Amino acid sequence: MLKQVAEGVFTHESEFIQSNTTVVRGRTGVLLIDPGITRGEMEALADDLRELGQPVVAGFSTHPDWDHLLWHESFGDVPRYGTARCAASIGEVLFSADWREQVAEGLPPEYADEIPMELLGLITGLPADSALLPWDGPAVRIIEHMAHAPGHAALLVEQSGVLVAGDMLSDILMPFLDLQAENPIEDYLAALLKFDSEAENVQVVIPGHGSVGGAEELRSRIARDRAYVETLRDGGVFDDPRVGPAAPLDWLPDVHEWQVQRLTEDGRP
Ligand SMILES: [Zn+2]
Repeated sequence: MLKQVAEGVFTHESEFIQSNTTVVRGRTGVLLIDPGITRGEMEALADDLRELGQPVVAGFSTHPDWDHLLWHESFGDVPRYGTARCAASIGEVLFSADWREQVAEGLPPEYADEIPMELLGLITGLPADSALLPWDGPAVRIIEHMAHAPGHAALLVEQSGVLVAGDMLSDILMPFLDLQAENPIEDYLAALLKFDSEAENVQVVIPGHGSVGGAEELRSRIARDRAYVETLRDGGVFDDPRVGPAAPLDWLPDVHEWQVQRLTEDGRP
């Protein structure tokens, strides 16, 4: 079911860790950002759009993780974009003969059978300095940053002030740092500063996973994520409900512990 979150912007929430698909209405059809998870959900979304008389005219993947790279044939064969780094990163994976096995290892077993792999990651990288998404609709600004994954980008629908944050600024997940990066902590703090500098333009924030928030919520999420990353950097006790004893996702505190360990080990790769 589509939920309107601002003029011309809708979300569809998946069962799988509250993954959000964002739909932005353009002149001749819609832009689909991070289209969804299961085959059934994407078919239902395509049906809803058909009923509204809104064909899909473009797609965008915020970053090269499987849950943001999926597609369904019923959306049609339209341009699907990501940043140049995002496209290069998934392109490298798709290049290997056993990419399906590689990706399958990371899938949640309870949904694995329902996740369509056929069209995964078939995106076109935008030129590195692209400021706006090329499509026939309201201006969508690309805010690329390093932090969670290579080539990660948030999108800002300027006229309605909607920030589609990808896997940043979630109320249910703590920051997941890019452990392959050279300076994961510095990158993450720099990305949060970037969001800070956009905050006055944002009325609504849509995280890749979690609940949609307003302008105040955006500021508190930035502050909460900064506190988390600074504690990773400086040591000390994490004061963060997402990873505490009452964490909304019971598996998250363990992932958090693992991340802390990885980032505080000496000789981190
Ligand atoms: Zn994700």
